[in-house]
Amino acid sequence: MRQCCDSVFKMTRRDAIKKGSVAGLVPMFPMVVTHLKKDNAMTKDYDVIIIGGSYAGLSAAMALGRSLRNVLIIDSGLPCNRQTPHSHNFITQDGSTPAGISQKAKSQVLKYDTVSFIEDKAIKGRKEEGGFYVLTESGKEFKAKKLVIATGIKDIMPSVKGFSECWGISVVHCPYCHGYEIRNKKTAIIANGEVAFHLAPLVSNLTDNLSVLTNGKADFTPEELLKLKEHNIHIIEKEITEIEHENGFMKNVVFDDSSTMHFEAAYGPLPFQQNLDIPEFIGCELTEQGYIQVDMMQKTTVDGVFACGDNSIRMRSLAIAVSAGAIVGAVANMELSKEEF
Ligand SMILES: Cc1cc2nc3c(=O)[nH]c(=O)nc-3n(C[C@H](O)[C@H](O)[C@H](O)COP(=O)(O)OP(=O)(O)OC[C@H]3O[C@@H](n4cnc5c(N)ncnc54)[C@H](O)[C@@H]3O)c2cc1C
Repeated sequence: MRQCCDSVFKMTRRDAIKKGSVAGLVPMFPMVVTHLKKDNAMTKDYDVIIIGGSYAGLSAAMALGRSLRNVLIIDSGLPCNRQTPHSHNFITQDGSTPAGISQKAKSQVLKYDTVSFIEDKAIKGRKEEGGFYVLTESGKEFKAKKLVIATGIKDIMPSVKGFSECWGISVVHCPYCHGYEIRNKKTAIIANGEVAFHLAPLVSNLTDNLSVLTNGKADFTPEELLKLKEHNIHIIEKEITEIEHENGFMKNVVFDDSSTMHFEAAYGPLPFQQNLDIPEFIGCELTEQGYIQVDMMQKTTVDGVFACGDNSIRMRSLAIAVSAGAIVGAVANMELSKEEF
């Protein structure tokens, strides 16, 4: 009996599952399973490390956990949509809170005993023969055969008073995520040139009361100006100094000449930066726009490193992040399976 217990202790959860013994283990030896899961976290040696445990990272972990892979998720707990009260356009979760969606995802993913999750921040990575090493802010080091970067992006807020307080509440990034809720409202597009002109038809489909605030001299071609005029879209070139609001719900835009205009909602496409200095961290190349360069299989330019979610695609939504994560999970598992076969 002693021998039997010892040998089970030495088995990883995955070995046990592969040997078909887990169905029997769970009711008979619940302590053993708990210990194995704890043991997994202590070995600091994984099949896959996922940096970023939000929608994209959790989705990758789901596919990997279900493939019996030892996975460590390292997450610093700051998803980009954390200020938005309700999330939309993600089927089965339309109108749920962002935290509610990720909590549910996390609880489903962590049911797979080979998946571990720690709250920490990855600060350094390196590739060596045999795997990837990740150092965290709290001084821990982990090793894995594959690395998934699901770190999202950081929106860079303008230095306009009130803007960041309204972000995700009444100043939004995307007509698909929040356009329906602010339809028919007195709306501004706070952008100029190509970006503003790209948004204009989409927003004009949702409201007839639309202005473009270019925050300085407008930068449109004569054809674009004509189109905007045809659709009764006003262009305001004055510089913005403040967005007056109540609890994030915008009331007025204040300009540098002290004049104000009342708006109920705005689209504010923002510049961004990667949350991790990716080339420095692990050597992956970025695109010209600053996204991590990936192929159709979400592989980066460094063999064995994958990226998914906002950090590697311009189209920004939960559905797209989750989809990319699912691809990463499947492809990373396929690579591992082939390497072991
Ligand atoms: C204000 C706002 C509202 C939005 N509303 C909607 C909506 O209604 N519907 C919709 O479909 N989409 C919406 N989106 C888009 C959606 O939130 C993103 O597409 C989605 O969050 C991307 O998921 P992700 O996992 O790639 O990144 P994120 O959700 O941003 O998560 C990245 C995770 O990585 C972690 N991380 C970063 N760096 C490190 C590190 N070095 N170490 C460890 N962890 C790290 C972060 O803490 C975070 O938990 C919204 C976006 C914004 C900004």
